[in-house]
Amino acid sequence: MKRDYYEILGVGKSASADEIKKAYRKTAMQYHPDRNPGDKAAEDKFKEAAEAYEVLSDADKRAKYDRYGHQAFGPGTGGGGFHNTNMEDIFSHFGDIFGGNDMFGSFFGGGGRSSGRSSQSTGQRGSNLRIKLKLTYAEIASGVTKQVKVKKHVACNTCGGNGAKDKSSFQKCGTCGGNGQVKRVQNTFLGQMQTVTTCPTCNGEGATITAKCGSCKGEGRVFGEEMINIEIPAGVQEGMQLSMGGKGNAGERGGYPGDLIIQIQEEAHPELERDGLNVAYDLHLTFPDVVFGTEVEVPTITGRAKVKIPAGTQSGKILRLKGKGFPEVQGYAKGDQLIQINVWTPQHLSAEEKEILEKLNESPNFKPNPDKKDKSFFDKVKEAFS
Ligand SMILES: [Zn+2]
Ligand SMILES: [Zn+2]
Repeated sequence: MKRDYYEILGVGKSASADEIKKAYRKTAMQYHPDRNPGDKAAEDKFKEAAEAYEVLSDADKRAKYDRYGHQAFGPGTGGGGFHNTNMEDIFSHFGDIFGGNDMFGSFFGGGGRSSGRSSQSTGQRGSNLRIKLKLTYAEIASGVTKQVKVKKHVACNTCGGNGAKDKSSFQKCGTCGGNGQVKRVQNTFLGQMQTVTTCPTCNGEGATITAKCGSCKGEGRVFGEEMINIEIPAGVQEGMQLSMGGKGNAGERGGYPGDLIIQIQEEAHPELERDGLNVAYDLHLTFPDVVFGTEVEVPTITGRAKVKIPAGTQSGKILRLKGKGFPEVQGYAKGDQLIQINVWTPQHLSAEEKEILEKLNESPNFKPNPDKKDKSFFDKVKEAFS
């Protein structure tokens, strides 16, 4: 169960943007990894606060959250319209709130945060990759696993991603002595401050390569492809984005891979039209069919269904197939299929047909006599789409 964003930051629902910023700063400092080295719980709290702040600091996202709660941001976004799952992202995204480049590290007088770079990963993080995925109504209704071949940067097999020719092709970086960071003393308006920055020579890797891998020319990655199984939950919609962490481009020299962002596209259905959770179908019947009643087969998202048309059905009537629409992507609601009855008016008639119709037209039974209980067109539309 996700915690309430306001609760995470310890502010009230009516907090001003400034109060939220202050509260986030306080929480972030409390749980900052530099202050809680190796403390997984603190790291989670730190990430949680960043997520809460990302939403509450954005007027638009905050308004959505106030209305719909965590549901507001749909699936595949970590539930919060939120992609900053690793620390590096949190730092790069919220650099301003920590008071600029490396100030934050120095506030604690500790080892600094080496620009948010994690110690587990050395090279540059790979970029995110975007693909579009076209789905049929049937696939959307049931959910589907799609196998997609994605062309992208993949880790180099020859060197295992480190970019070196072999194990002896490394040399300790002379600038930083191998720890990847350099310390600097700066005079600022707050007094003298020691700042720690990523070593510019080795980019924080602590070592330089003396002989590069021949396959990847030292980059640690090559252009290739990967078969990826993408699980699509039922009920997605055109334009929705799902994100798969770590399935984007491989990073340089063992850096974290980027994410794969999947944008959903709906394949148009030849006969049905989606309207939110509902699906609409226009059924054309002959005049005798609506007079006598009939049984017809109609297309549905998942196949075909038989529908009884009662005798005396008026043109424009909307029949409802309960539960034959789309499921809600996060939740239990299900839409309906709405079938609008249209009586087909013939446009070419033989002399004989004309004669019969003219005769029928004189019959009192053929004079329009709308019953009081027949709802107006507008009421019906309102009812059908409510
Ligand atoms: Zn290589
Ligand atoms: Zn260095």
